[in-house]
Amino acid sequence: MPYWQNWSGRLGEKVRDIHFARSQGDITGLIGGLGSAAARLRVAGAGHSHAPLVVGTDRVLDLSGLSGVIACDQDRMTATIRAGTPIYTLGAVLQEAGMALKSQGDIDRQTLAGACATGTHGSGRYLQNLSASIESLTLVDGQGKVRVCSASHQGTDFEALKVGLGAFGVVTEIEIAVRESFKLKEQGFSLTGDELMAQLEGFDDSHDRFEFFWQPQQDQAMVKIMVETDEEPVYPVAEEGKRCAYNYEVLPNHRPHRHTEMEYSIAAEHGPACFAEIRALLQTEFQEVAWPVEYRRVAQDDVWLSNAYQRDTVTISVHQDVNADETQYYQACETIFKRYRGRPHWGKVHYLEGAALADLYPKWREWWQMRDTFDPKQRFLNDFLRAVRPS
Ligand SMILES: Cc1cc2nc3c(=O)[nH]c(=O)nc-3n(C[C@H](O)[C@H](O)[C@H](O)COP(=O)(O)OP(=O)(O)OC[C@H]3O[C@@H](n4cnc5c(N)ncnc54)[C@H](O)[C@@H]3O)c2cc1C
Repeated sequence: MPYWQNWSGRLGEKVRDIHFARSQGDITGLIGGLGSAAARLRVAGAGHSHAPLVVGTDRVLDLSGLSGVIACDQDRMTATIRAGTPIYTLGAVLQEAGMALKSQGDIDRQTLAGACATGTHGSGRYLQNLSASIESLTLVDGQGKVRVCSASHQGTDFEALKVGLGAFGVVTEIEIAVRESFKLKEQGFSLTGDELMAQLEGFDDSHDRFEFFWQPQQDQAMVKIMVETDEEPVYPVAEEGKRCAYNYEVLPNHRPHRHTEMEYSIAAEHGPACFAEIRALLQTEFQEVAWPVEYRRVAQDDVWLSNAYQRDTVTISVHQDVNADETQYYQACETIFKRYRGRPHWGKVHYLEGAALADLYPKWREWWQMRDTFDPKQRFLNDFLRAVRPS
């Protein structure tokens, strides 16, 4: 039996098969031929989720063959892109069309559909996550039927599909709203923990694109501020914190060290207080942890399962080496995040059960009702989704 594993190697299992599809026809054929009502299928993107979203299934579908930009529409300012397209291949193609993604994460190894399925985001107080830019989705549902979904077909219910956790079907194409091509200039500088705490609220208010990594053992923060610029790009692209180039050359970083990660989204106004508690926790109870804490901003949206659903957001992430047991550390962090009504990133580690998720997402039950109409046989539900499904 073939073995599937995620990027960190922490999650993996033997599955009955790893299927490969190059076309929509391959996918309708695969789903139509699944036979037994109990057969389960999960789509894998680039496997960069730390949460058990792909494992806990019989079959995995690899969509890396369904890649590339289909069309750039200058009037609508949208790009239609195949689901398995790695984000790192998009920047130059969109730029040639005078376009850019509005937002992306701090790496670009994910596939477009995989990143959208979990609400992947960058940092900026006016920047929504990637999923919020989806204009339409084409997917193959649990009955093997091709469905084109958009606000003009589904109305506001379309917001359910934008962060879909791979549970509605196999997404084959995404039409995503883009903006005009742009360049960014980074300014990176270091602050002590106390200096950071004294200035944090000011940074938040005065910079559109701001984030930091705080190193607990040094009590030192590397702050990054980015501004849009008309300056000429500088090649070779400089090191992190000093870059000046196109958005897709400045936003993603190289993160080769395998780790696990927990990230919670909390209301933006509570960001500094919540970070202060995480900092104190590390300085008192987890002094052995050498991995940084990351702090970012995300603008609110109306996507039902978005971490920023109707709430301007600060995200706080904690990390640990993949070979270390992170459980006690992450559970202690989660206790703090829960006090702030934090919502866990769908693609990262958390320990919440269905009732807690229902409490955090006002549209949780409606999301499941919508999902069930796409996949009545529950082919796309793996162990994790079955465990949190409302009864
Ligand atoms: C080093 C690293 C850095 C990261 N940085 C960020 C960051 O800056 N910001 C952030 O928000 N997150 C970040 N993440 C998390 C990451 O962006 C998400 O977990 C993302 O979902 C991973 O995308 P993927 O293509 O690897 O998808 P996978 O992890 O393989 O899958 C994610 C989900 O998408 C579904 N899916 C994939 N393709 C399809 C499809 N075609 N149709 C239907 N469902 C599909 C899967 O079934 C699964 O539910 C990071 C992760 C790592 C490991």
